[in-house]
Amino acid sequence: MGIASIIFNKAPRPVGGILKWKDGKRKKEVIIDGKRVKKTRAKLPDSHKDLQKRMDDFLNKYGLEITTSGLLIDGPNQIRPKVKIEVKRGKNKGCCYLCGQPSYSLEEVKETVFPFITGSSGVLSFNPQAGKPEKVCWKCSLLGKFVPVNGFYLTQGDYLFAFLPYSPSLEKMLEVFDPLRDAEIKDPNLLKNFDHPLGGYFQRPFEVTFAFLYTLYQKVCVHKVATEGKEKNVLDWGKMLEITISKAPLEFFVLDFESKGQTYACKMAWPFRDSVYFFRLMHEAEQRGLYVKQVMHLLIDRTQKKNENKTLTRNKICEHILKKLSILSLVERHVFHANLDYFKPLLDFLIFYENLVEGEGKMTKEEQETAVTLGKRIGMAVAEGGKKGDLYALRKARTKVDFLEQLNRLQFKLGNDFVVPAQVYEGNLTDENFTEFKQFCMVSALNSFNAAMSNKNKKGDQS
Ligand SMILES: [Zn+2]
Repeated sequence: MGIASIIFNKAPRPVGGILKWKDGKRKKEVIIDGKRVKKTRAKLPDSHKDLQKRMDDFLNKYGLEITTSGLLIDGPNQIRPKVKIEVKRGKNKGCCYLCGQPSYSLEEVKETVFPFITGSSGVLSFNPQAGKPEKVCWKCSLLGKFVPVNGFYLTQGDYLFAFLPYSPSLEKMLEVFDPLRDAEIKDPNLLKNFDHPLGGYFQRPFEVTFAFLYTLYQKVCVHKVATEGKEKNVLDWGKMLEITISKAPLEFFVLDFESKGQTYACKMAWPFRDSVYFFRLMHEAEQRGLYVKQVMHLLIDRTQKKNENKTLTRNKICEHILKKLSILSLVERHVFHANLDYFKPLLDFLIFYENLVEGEGKMTKEEQETAVTLGKRIGMAVAEGGKKGDLYALRKARTKVDFLEQLNRLQFKLGNDFVVPAQVYEGNLTDENFTEFKQFCMVSALNSFNAAMSNKNKKGDQS
C-alpha cells in the first residue's frame, strides 16, 4: 500500500456501484415458460441501453423480480477514505489549522488528514488539558488524501522509507510531477515504486536515501549518448534544473517508518535540500570513471554475520556524503576492519570526494597527494619484504613523532625497497594535519599492499 498505509491503514474492501433505473420500476406482463405473468421490470439508462435485452432475457430465464432501485455493479477491492466536498458556502465556523483560512466546514485533525498528528483521542489521553483538538477545512483534508500520490517509497522488512517532494510553490509541485514520474515503477506487490541500480543490502535510512536520489539522477537527470561505440551518460542540465531549483526550490522530505503492528512509528523526518549538489557530484564522479555502484558494493562489511549489520558503516558514509562531510576516517576504519582484498575504486572515490569537502584545517591537494604516495610506497615495500602486521603497527601511531619513528623503523627493516618521499619532511606532514595525513596514507598503503600481494600470488600460481 506504500505511503498511503501511513495515513490510512484500514484493510481494502470490495467496492461496487449502482446504476439507477431510467424511470423507476413497474409491473409488466412478460412471457415465462410460455405463460403470461406479471413481473417487476425496469429500464436501464440510455448509457447502458444496449444491455437491456440481455438483462431482460436473464430475468425471464430465471423468473426473477427486480427489487432494487438500480443495477448493482461488482468492483475490485479498494481503500477508500471518506472524503467531504462542500462547495455550498455557509456560516464561518473558525479558521483552518493548516491553511489559516476561515472556513464554513471544519473537521477534526487526525492521521488521515496529516500523518504526524494523532486523533483527538490520542491527544487527550496523553494530555487531558490539551483542550479542543485543532480543526482543518474540508479543502485541506481533501488535499491531504493525495499526498502519497506524489511520493516515492521503498519497503524493507519492517521499515518503510518515503520520499516526498516538497516546494513552497504549488506551481512548481505541479511542474515536477511529470518529470519525477520517469523514475517510477509499478510493483504489483506495492512494496516500492522505484528501482535503484546500486545492488543489494540497501536497508538503512541514509543509504536508501542515497539510492533514491541516485535513481532520480540516473532516470531523470541524464540521458545516454553513444560516442565511438561506447555509451556515455550526459547530464541533462535543463531536466536537472527543472526538478531542482528552477523557479522555486524543491526539497525531499525523507521519512523513515517502522511498522508497529497496527500503526507505523516515524523514526526519522529529514528535509534534504541539496539535490543539485548530489546530482552534480554523481555526474562528476562518473565522468572520471568512478562507478558509484562499485563504491557502494565495496562498502558492505562482509565480516558481519547478521545482514542488518553489514551496512552500518555504509549508512554512515552515505549520511556524510549527503551532508557534505568528510568520509575519510569512516572509510579508513572500514577498509582495515572489513578485510577487503581489493578496493581500488573506493580509494579513487575517496581521493576525488575528499578534495571537494570543505572544512577548517582540511589538507591541501598537495599534502593529500604526498600522503597517498607515501602510502603507496609503504604498501609495495611491505608486501615485498615485510608482513601485514607492519601496516597495523604504523596505523597505531598516535602522534606525528610516533609515526615518523615507525617510518624509520620500516626503512631500517626494508632497506632500499622503501624510500620516503622528500615532501613528507618538507612540510607536507604537520602536527595539524597528522590524523588526516595518516588516514589517507594508511588507506593507500593497504590498497597497494593488496595489489602487490595479488600480483605475487598470480606469479606464484604461474611458476
Ligand atoms: Zn485549510
